[in-house]
Amino acid sequence: MLEYTPKEMIKRDSGGMINPAKTCQPVGAMYAALGIHSCLPHSHGSQGCCSFHRMHLTRHFRDPIMASTSSFTEGASVFGGGANLKTSIKNVFAIYNPDVIAIHTTCLSETIGDDIPTAIRQSEIPEGKVVFHANTPSYQGSHITGFSNMTNAMVTYFSETKLADGKKEKFVNIIPGFVNPADMREIKRLTEEMGIKYIMFPDTSGVVDSPMTGKFEMYPSGGTTIPELKKTGDAKFTISLGRFASQMAAESLEKKCKIPFVSLKEPIGIKATDEFLMALRGAFATEIPESLECERGQLVDVMTDTHFHFHGKKVAIFGDPDVVTAMTEFCLSLGMLPVHVLTGTPGGALGSGLGGFEQEVKAMLNEAGVCGNVKAAGDLFTLHQWIKNEPVDLLIGNTYGKYIARAEDIPFVRFGFPILDRAIHPYMPVTGYRGALRLIEQISDALLDRCDRDAADEDFELVM
Ligand code: SF4
Repeated sequence: MLEYTPKEMIKRDSGGMINPAKTCQPVGAMYAALGIHSCLPHSHGSQGCCSFHRMHLTRHFRDPIMASTSSFTEGASVFGGGANLKTSIKNVFAIYNPDVIAIHTTCLSETIGDDIPTAIRQSEIPEGKVVFHANTPSYQGSHITGFSNMTNAMVTYFSETKLADGKKEKFVNIIPGFVNPADMREIKRLTEEMGIKYIMFPDTSGVVDSPMTGKFEMYPSGGTTIPELKKTGDAKFTISLGRFASQMAAESLEKKCKIPFVSLKEPIGIKATDEFLMALRGAFATEIPESLECERGQLVDVMTDTHFHFHGKKVAIFGDPDVVTAMTEFCLSLGMLPVHVLTGTPGGALGSGLGGFEQEVKAMLNEAGVCGNVKAAGDLFTLHQWIKNEPVDLLIGNTYGKYIARAEDIPFVRFGFPILDRAIHPYMPVTGYRGALRLIEQISDALLDRCDRDAADEDFELVM
């Protein structure tokens, strides 16, 4: 499989990726759109693009992902896709009857330069129904950029200020970033425990993890409603979780409706969860409830009890920038050494300043006295070469890492998107204190299983 990846690293000045660590913008845009209630994502491009995006999400969430397509053929490629889009909108409302259609573009429609707002204006949209769009040219950024663009479109299309004289309502907007529905549920639970009202957008809980009821529901009960999206313009403030997936929407909301925002890491690990709760506490002058203090105390207890499993272990982490940054911080809290950290998403995207990902992760490593490789817009070939040159005790990343783990015979913890070869994960949060406990269990199990496997008979221990 990957046995022939060379150890010697040759400078690559140009050319494509080898084993990319990202996928294309519309995948993220489609996922974000699913976080609106009764919304059908619509892929403005060929059937092949739409099938790929749906398949990728379906395999990760193990739930059927609904989406429609403009079905480009040669004619649309030459004359533009406007006619296809108008016909699609008419047919989708007539046949599938969603409340909302969220259009995202693809490489082809972006290259043609289709004018989507004009096509929407010229379409037959039934009374009470809504159509909006995001441009998601896939030759830029990654699925995280697509998620960000679609989330930003929710603000630019819908958020509005209803209250006069700069008054604000006592609730918070939470933009959760590209995380599993279980993580969105956990972030909402933490906010509810704090006794604070919120609007989360997008919110895919109850959509891509809906229960089996024996009845097919094209539009399950979850998702942020359009009235809720409109109301985001009256919030006291906004918390954006993950700079790459969420910050652009928070900035637009600030510009459009004068809602201040704070941009935090995904609340993965103890420090990032503390920061999330302290931001809520500071803005709403509430106290951290005993229930959350107890959860934190349990986490600290487990970290103390198990620190010898982790201390000094070298780890390589890859995946989407927001979750990788938070995971790197958590591994440092556990006493591990993240010596290779890589994301496929370009690091300077979305207002983070050029090199933002690399600067942030390097600053964390420097503070902890760890010397490591850090790269944005990297690929898994580079990661594999790094590992060949400096081996690690553990690899953390999405399913695509299993090839490197197999080639180098290293323990592997699946984390992030996509996870295509395991089930259950969309239902199990990695955010919050409880999520951190689960991560500790996964990391600890992977390291101890390796100890057991490699132990000589005389060293094979019952109690570890
Ligand atoms: S053509 Fe572009 S939008 Fe379509 S699947 Fe490929 S990268 Fe994605």
